[in-house]
Amino acid sequence: MFWNENETKSRKELEEIQLSRLKWQVAYAYEHVPFYTRQLDSVGVKPSDIRTLKDLSKIPFTMKTDLRDHYPTGLFAVPNNKIVRYHGSSGTTGKPIMVGYTRGDMENWTEMCARMATAAGVTAEDTAQIAFGYGLFTGGFGLHYGLERVGASVIPVSSGNSERQLMLMRDLHTTVLIATPSYVLHLTEVMQDLGIRKEDLDLRVGMFGGEGHTPEMREQIEQRLGIIDTQNYGLTELCGPGVSFECLEHSGMHINEDMFIAEIIDPVTGEVLPEGSEGEIVFTTLTKEGIPMLRYRTKDITRLTYEPCACGRTLARMDLVKGRSDDMMVIRGVNVFPSQVEAVLMGVDGIGQQYQLIVTTEKFMDKMEVQVELMDGSMLESYSNLERLSGEIRHKIKTVLQIDVKVTLLNPKTIERTAGKSHRVIDKRSKAF
Ligand code: ZN
Repeated sequence: MFWNENETKSRKELEEIQLSRLKWQVAYAYEHVPFYTRQLDSVGVKPSDIRTLKDLSKIPFTMKTDLRDHYPTGLFAVPNNKIVRYHGSSGTTGKPIMVGYTRGDMENWTEMCARMATAAGVTAEDTAQIAFGYGLFTGGFGLHYGLERVGASVIPVSSGNSERQLMLMRDLHTTVLIATPSYVLHLTEVMQDLGIRKEDLDLRVGMFGGEGHTPEMREQIEQRLGIIDTQNYGLTELCGPGVSFECLEHSGMHINEDMFIAEIIDPVTGEVLPEGSEGEIVFTTLTKEGIPMLRYRTKDITRLTYEPCACGRTLARMDLVKGRSDDMMVIRGVNVFPSQVEAVLMGVDGIGQQYQLIVTTEKFMDKMEVQVELMDGSMLESYSNLERLSGEIRHKIKTVLQIDVKVTLLNPKTIERTAGKSHRVIDKRSKAF
């Protein structure tokens, strides 16, 4: 089942759409956003120099700092009377970044989220509960409009209040759950406490995003809830959810290529890498009126494939995000992503989903401690069990990462839960080199 004919076009047809839209988008950005006029002028490129898709690489990158530096609306291409919606993302420090949507942008965003819902198998027969936060965060509203577009009955419950979430799920026979994966795992813990079994619910599909999740985490979610777990990807800077989405083949996330061009670059040199390489994914918007993005650096590490998918879609697919180039820690010279540690932890019996990585320096040596919760606190009473379990985790991490870590096992529910993105890494190393 497809939502839009552009999802199954031939590569040649898709590239024709991309090229004509790219020419328009670059000229539009150059004319309406002084920042882009300066960016293109600085490398001596005029919009008329964009004749093929390859010419995109002549344009300088746009960074998150550019959005911050032009806070709140300095990168907007239209006056306020053309903006119908603001969204923003809260940075961990300082001012958020703000984006604005015209009526046309809202229509395209809704369209992309409708494609995503259809790819997850959601139809007008479904009841969809949105446990994403509504507000400046794009997650809640993006899914809301897309799911309404396909005709699903939407319950805009927003995030938090797990007991009420579960009550509504039972009473309204919710079939589709929209949430961050870490919140879903938290919900399953609440279910256990309340004695609610997966059979007591009608859930059949999850549409999860807002943060990455590993295949091991997916397996846990699918088992605990008895659902199909689908993932999707988006960034506030590009529109929010809907940039790419999984189909039921679970073989990567289809990028809405009639709305975005994706490139993979070397995060250090900025060089465009050949197909199949792992690197940082960079997006250029093709239809944006409110706030165009030319070659936006996401910092997300992934890989692209252009092979048509078994589902019938020809849209390129990106792998589930392996990590952020920002999150990548260098520990004793080894590149470490939190997702790699997570994958190991998910594969060990007896431990829960919540963990934290604490990185310190001792005598000029990097040390990493993995704190992870046990499923059953009574295990803490048996020293030999603890030794066996922490030894197993240490060994598995060493096999994957080639580094020795300290493993600390904690009582269940010791680590703070967050409804949104969870903070897994505490890096206490001095940054002064
Ligand atoms: Zn597919």
